[in-house]
Amino acid sequence: MGRKFFVGGNFKMNGTIKTITEIVHNLSTAQLDPNTEVVIAPPSLYLLLAREHLAPHIEVAAQNVFDKPSGAFTGEISPQQLKDSNITWVVLGHSERRTILREEDEFVAAKTKAALDAGINVILCCGESLEEREKGVTVDVVTRQLQAVNKVIGKDGWKNVVIAYEPIWAIGTGKVATTEQAQEVHAAVRKWLADAVTPEVAEFTRIIYGGSVTEKNSPELAKQPDVDGFLVGGASLKPAFVEIINSNA
Ligand code: PGA
Repeated sequence: MGRKFFVGGNFKMNGTIKTITEIVHNLSTAQLDPNTEVVIAPPSLYLLLAREHLAPHIEVAAQNVFDKPSGAFTGEISPQQLKDSNITWVVLGHSERRTILREEDEFVAAKTKAALDAGINVILCCGESLEEREKGVTVDVVTRQLQAVNKVIGKDGWKNVVIAYEPIWAIGTGKVATTEQAQEVHAAVRKWLADAVTPEVAEFTRIIYGGSVTEKNSPELAKQPDVDGFLVGGASLKPAFVEIINSNA
């Protein structure tokens, strides 16, 4: 069986009760390709609002989670609390958290493991900076980020992980990776999964692309053999998100 196309909407720190309610309503009533899995990630304050108003065929993701079940961790949310709230996914390792919030590979790995152990699915982000790309170390950086996770989740953990390849230089810049650049890294990640985990994990794991995805560039990117969907930032807040979701139809 092929890999089910997957489109995530990462709202980042955007939206209000009013705008998120509107987006949720529009998505719930839109004609979405039934062969595509759709997940939206609003800010944590609006997770329950989204879940309450969203049609059941769309899932909700948190944009972060902590690696402990409960306790004295001011400002954090646990995987168990997400589970309790029917929030079934979490985005981890986003470059904005790696760079601005200084999250290290090992912390991302610990959070991934804690989420999976609690029954939460993970959209695991990886990606290189412009400097790293120019140095020719893109695949080294991405596989280093993934290996930190692989070390702690083992081969069974990958069943509930979607990998999002997001070159940092393409996020929010309007500078999308070319279809060749995306395909090249996705294929390298798949090969790494085959070698470092198992060929079976390489075959079933969805590797989605993120970084300035729009309804204009998504159909071409979706045709690449190793591009299994998208993680969409800015454009997920707009009506055209529906076109991106349907770009593989
Ligand atoms: P963008 O963000 O689509 O606005 O570039 C993507 C992301 O950061 O997930």
